[in-house]
Amino acid sequence: MIKKLALHWKIIIGMVLGVVYGLIASKYGWIDFTDDWIKPWGGIFVNLLKLIAVPLVFASLIKGVASLSDISKLSRIGGKTIAIYLTSTVISVTIGLLLVNTVNPGMGFDKDSIIQTESVQEGTNKKIEAAKDVKGSGPLQFLIDVVPTNIFDAASNNRNMLQVIFFAIFFGIAMVMLPDGKTTYVKGFFDGINDIILQIVDIIMMAAPYGVFALLGGLVVDFGASADLFIALAKYSATVIVGLLLMIFVVYPIIPKIFTKMKYKDFFKGIMPAQMLAFSTSSSAATLPVTMERCEDHLGVSEEVSSFVLPLGATINMDGTSLYQAVAAVFIAQAYSMDLDMGQQLTIVLTATLASIGAAAVPGAGMVMLVIVLGAIGVPTEGLALIFGVDRILDMMRTVVNVTGDATVATVVAATEGQLRVVSEEELMS
Ligand code: ASP
Repeated sequence: MIKKLALHWKIIIGMVLGVVYGLIASKYGWIDFTDDWIKPWGGIFVNLLKLIAVPLVFASLIKGVASLSDISKLSRIGGKTIAIYLTSTVISVTIGLLLVNTVNPGMGFDKDSIIQTESVQEGTNKKIEAAKDVKGSGPLQFLIDVVPTNIFDAASNNRNMLQVIFFAIFFGIAMVMLPDGKTTYVKGFFDGINDIILQIVDIIMMAAPYGVFALLGGLVVDFGASADLFIALAKYSATVIVGLLLMIFVVYPIIPKIFTKMKYKDFFKGIMPAQMLAFSTSSSAATLPVTMERCEDHLGVSEEVSSFVLPLGATINMDGTSLYQAVAAVFIAQAYSMDLDMGQQLTIVLTATLASIGAAAVPGAGMVMLVIVLGAIGVPTEGLALIFGVDRILDMMRTVVNVTGDATVATVVAATEGQLRVVSEEELMS
């Protein structure tokens, strides 16, 4: 019976049990026990996922690009992908802005009513510091950063995923340009590596229900103390959550409807395990291997498309993050009793789009980049402290949207390229 349960059910059960455990542990003060004996398993699980991110992106992209018959196909798929990514991000920022300007969660909110504990202050300062490095650079710094000076250096840090992507695409293009006979062995090598890594993903996923149990159990214990903050910021959080739900249940279903024959319900079933992991890990990068596996094996996206569209999406397409940044920026401005004019709202659209592209696919990155949005509209960055208490939970939710957005675009790009296989009910559910 247990064996037959679909993976997403097992993961949901793990999540629910994790939350229940966390609540009980907070109530009875099992904090040390949880820190010592439960949390590490969540850490191990996330580490395993991160461990394969770089080799997976590397092998699958090289394989993907090298299997293209010509470079023009790559530029066509690439252009299409980036155009849809940008459009969906601008749509999501706009939804966030419309919502926050309607709900006005920060109006009449006394910013001094939030008690700033030492850890909140410390956390806020850290985010502001981290953002300084990004802010102090010129307009083309982003492009300079994409080109690595040393591939081993780049591959040694998951934050440099865009650099790894750059090198892999470059490598793949060179392979396409060479006559077939010269690259046979290299192609075979990367094909093999790719298959091995996908097998590793399958193995790791067997541990997913236990991993999410430990992750969520540990998180609930951490949050136990800040229940007051949760309540104080409920309106702000609700605005972000409504926006995120609109993306998942209104915007994303419309896009595949235009381009594919796939029912959104089926899409949802197929991608759900990746969404659960996005929620539990708060990291698009850590979820990437599973997003790829789900898209290929359970949604029917060809490897050629998924291996290009998804790693790129995990790093540059963050619809949930950009929506959150728009709502948070306006909320903080309102809490400081600042009125934002049309020009400032448009600045939010532009900076939140860029900031979400620049945000690393790791927990809390969206908040670091929020500093840039705040700076651009002249809102004090100290305002981050106001939303700090609820950021983790919103991070979990916006990461689900980020990952769903990537998978939606992968499906659409595959469909327009004639590379979306019709999957069986069994493939969908397994
Ligand atoms: N955690 C998000 C992600 O990995 C980024 C963010 O902080 O918004 O997609």
